[in-house]
Amino acid sequence: MSQKVEKLIDKKGLRLDGRKPDELRPIKIEVGVLANADGSAYIQQGKNKILAAVYGPRELHPKHLALPDRTVLRCRYHMAPFSVQERKSPAPSRREIELSKVIREALEPSLFLEYYPRTAIDVFIEVLQADGGTRCASITAASLALADAGIPMRDLVVACAAGKVDDTIVLDLMDTEDKKGNADVPVALMPNLNAITLLQMDGNLSLEEFEKAVNLAIDGCKKIYAMQKEALRAKYVNIKEVEE
Ligand code: UDP
Repeated sequence: MSQKVEKLIDKKGLRLDGRKPDELRPIKIEVGVLANADGSAYIQQGKNKILAAVYGPRELHPKHLALPDRTVLRCRYHMAPFSVQERKSPAPSRREIELSKVIREALEPSLFLEYYPRTAIDVFIEVLQADGGTRCASITAASLALADAGIPMRDLVVACAAGKVDDTIVLDLMDTEDKKGNADVPVALMPNLNAITLLQMDGNLSLEEFEKAVNLAIDGCKKIYAMQKEALRAKYVNIKEVEE
């Protein structure tokens, strides 16, 4: 089927939004943005705007779901109806249920679940505006919200995708690149432990391209990790300044 394909990389090797292949979108992260949650964080990554709120450890209801030897981490990824161009139904879609599961599985290895038997830790993720790569930005924000809630962890979890568009391996795909490109590889990492907690692939890549994409995503994760730590530090510097 012949179809006119839009160029995703121009003659200068730049992407639709002017980025170089290995460049992240502009990122802004803030910690402790919600007064009524135990922990919270907000991330803007390009046009993505995502809030994460954490409650717990707290009593789990219904009680029969409680586990005698560890806490139950519950995660809800939700897209606001106005977060995408075509109104999204507020009811949970299959995609949101799947993303809630993969985000929970990406966060779990960072936590000491056995510290809080018979309790629950709840993570609520609200995507206010989406432009590709929301699962990764959600993980980055949710891990910070968990840290903000004072929940002990082995390391922060940070996530970033890499992929292939127009035969070029690129970092941090936005929606158009995600939809019109050849492949998308989201990666979540605990950088201090050098442990990957999420690895997915949508599309087709050769083994060589896959390795290149994973390494590029890991580089992106490490850059965002520095911003994550800075955002966490900034909250406590602010508190100290207010006290003084
Ligand atoms: N998207 C959309 N409507 C939907 C779900 C997703 O327009 O109901 C867009 C949104 O911009 C999202 C992108 O499709 O970020 C890519 O979605 P994907 O399932 O690949 O997850 P993500 O890349 O956000 O982790």
